[in-house]
Amino acid sequence: MKKNVLFRTNLMVCIVIIIGFIITSAISYKSNQGIFRKDIENVSMLTSDGIYHQIDSIFTKPINISMTMANDSLLKEFLDGEEQHLKEQEFIGKMRDYLNAYRDKYEYDSVFLASVKTKNYYYYNGLDRILEEGDPENNWFYDFLDQNTDYGIQIDNDQVEGAGNEVTVFINCRIMDDRGTVMGVVGVGFRVDSLQSLLKSYENDFGVNAYLVDEEGNVEISGSHTRYEGKTNLFGRCAFTDLKDIILGSREKTQNLWYHSQNRSGYVVSSFIENLGWFLIIDNDTTPLSRKLMVQLLRETLILAVIIVLVLVTITSVIRRYNKRIIELTVRAEKVHQAVFQQATEQLYENIYEIDITHNQAASEATAQYFASLGAPPDIPYEKALYIIAEKQIMEEYREGYIQTFSPNHVLDSFEKGIENLQYDFMITTDGEHYYWMRITAQIFRWQEDNSVRMLVYRQNIDEQKKHELYMLEQMQRDPLTGLYNKAAAQEHVRRILNDQPESMFAFFILDIDYFKQVNDNFGHAAGDRVLKEFSNTLKNQFRENDIVGRIGGDEFTALMPVPKAEMAKERAGELVNVLQRRTETDGIHITASIGVALAIGRDTDFENLYKTADYALYKAKKQGRNRYVITDVNGNPQ
Ligand code: GH3
Ligand code: MG
Repeated sequence: MKKNVLFRTNLMVCIVIIIGFIITSAISYKSNQGIFRKDIENVSMLTSDGIYHQIDSIFTKPINISMTMANDSLLKEFLDGEEQHLKEQEFIGKMRDYLNAYRDKYEYDSVFLASVKTKNYYYYNGLDRILEEGDPENNWFYDFLDQNTDYGIQIDNDQVEGAGNEVTVFINCRIMDDRGTVMGVVGVGFRVDSLQSLLKSYENDFGVNAYLVDEEGNVEISGSHTRYEGKTNLFGRCAFTDLKDIILGSREKTQNLWYHSQNRSGYVVSSFIENLGWFLIIDNDTTPLSRKLMVQLLRETLILAVIIVLVLVTITSVIRRYNKRIIELTVRAEKVHQAVFQQATEQLYENIYEIDITHNQAASEATAQYFASLGAPPDIPYEKALYIIAEKQIMEEYREGYIQTFSPNHVLDSFEKGIENLQYDFMITTDGEHYYWMRITAQIFRWQEDNSVRMLVYRQNIDEQKKHELYMLEQMQRDPLTGLYNKAAAQEHVRRILNDQPESMFAFFILDIDYFKQVNDNFGHAAGDRVLKEFSNTLKNQFRENDIVGRIGGDEFTALMPVPKAEMAKERAGELVNVLQRRTETDGIHITASIGVALAIGRDTDFENLYKTADYALYKAKKQGRNRYVITDVNGNPQ
């Protein structure tokens, strides 16, 4: 498998895993976010409710007690007769005991009574002081009288040195007579040190910030701060400053708001505590949780990355392993196939060589070895090796054709023209003595790996086939009865020789047996055939190997031989007449022959001209009495 296939597979798997992760993360993030928001809202509201009710319960009881006292007729009677009995210790003692009894029973820090008429302030130890108007210490009394409410709460958050985070609370209740006139103010005072710890415990339990702030937003009490420690406005520094007006805007309704600032987000719940005149603000900062979620997401991403790496490693190793296995199996199958193929080709071909034509070099080990076996140096260019092969192994007359056919330039030219097969038959020797016929069939193709043009060379020993072909060719040229060239072959050879040797002088003979018809008539056709055979043998023996001798008709023969001069032609014609005049060996039949001879220089004549001239000379010889020759040049001049 190619590398990019492996890469693509891995990429696909990565994409699938990452898309899967993104989808599941998005779904889970969406649903988690919903749950998370709901959770934050619930926790904040429950915390707000819890604190609200706890604070409320702290104040309910003392208010009830103060109200009970305010309606007590004993107190009204006391105030009614106060001016008359002011000097009586017993009268004052009764009131002291009354206030003390309440203080002891409910363990308040203070139980007091203030008279409108006398401005006397009584507490558990008796008469304490007179509430002079104008003294800021006594403002609470006059302020309360100005209000038109049954009871009021006064918070003392910064009065007492060393009180720490304690808050002193005074409940003031009006005492009214039957006509509705205010007679006095009764109430209890107690220190509340539990408010901050209450807020703290909620903060710790629910991970919120709780604040009690006044109507301006100044922090009265928070988990970490009291008004006594200094005046701090909650909205001066918090992340929901912009929401101040909404948060402090409504006393009747609880406000629930999500806020988002640059570096913080959260949920804030604000409710007004009527008894205290303060707002309870619960701030649930979701930033750490969001950060936790982000860390969680990063962790999941990291795990995913590890999983992806593991999956990729597994896929790569599995694919590689299977790929290796597939290659092994393919190679094995190919080897089997190759063995069969090789066996088949070995029977067909002597050798198969491969040449890289583009790079002018051997393209297989066997080819390089073949070049080396001829004494070529290693890495010899193919073109040079071609010359060495031609010189050392190929018969001279085929060398040029061999080099021309398989030269790199010719191969490339052929391939460009769309020719993919080249073939050349030649004679080759491996021992330097014996030559045999070899056929090279070359297949030209483009090698995709490096885009080079290559050539596979199949060498086939065609000696037997070639010899048979040549024999068949020869046979086609021969007259079956006499074994001499037939007319067409004789004509072809004469033309070739005239063409090859234009400067030579030639004698062209046409020979005809005299009265041959009578042989057939007297001795039969078979005897006639025997006469023809014997005649042709005799004739052939009169000529050399390279001369042309043929049978061109029933008892008509031809011959061509080069002659240095005209005399020699005459001599040869005379000799022939003598030799051919004979009694046959087999049948003892006496025969003679007439000969017409045409004499010409190669370039001055052609076959037709020679034939016509010789035929006419033959006609003359026949006419002159037979058993003779007539010789003329091509113009008909006797020689
Ligand atoms: P001339 O002296 O004028 O040549 O007289 P001729 O009898 O030889 O006459 P011609 O050359 O015209 O006759 C050739 C004869 O050869 C005619 C034919 O029957 C005979 N002949 C042709 N081919 C064959 C053959 O293959 N075998 C045999 N036996 N006879 C053949
Ligand atoms: Mg004849």
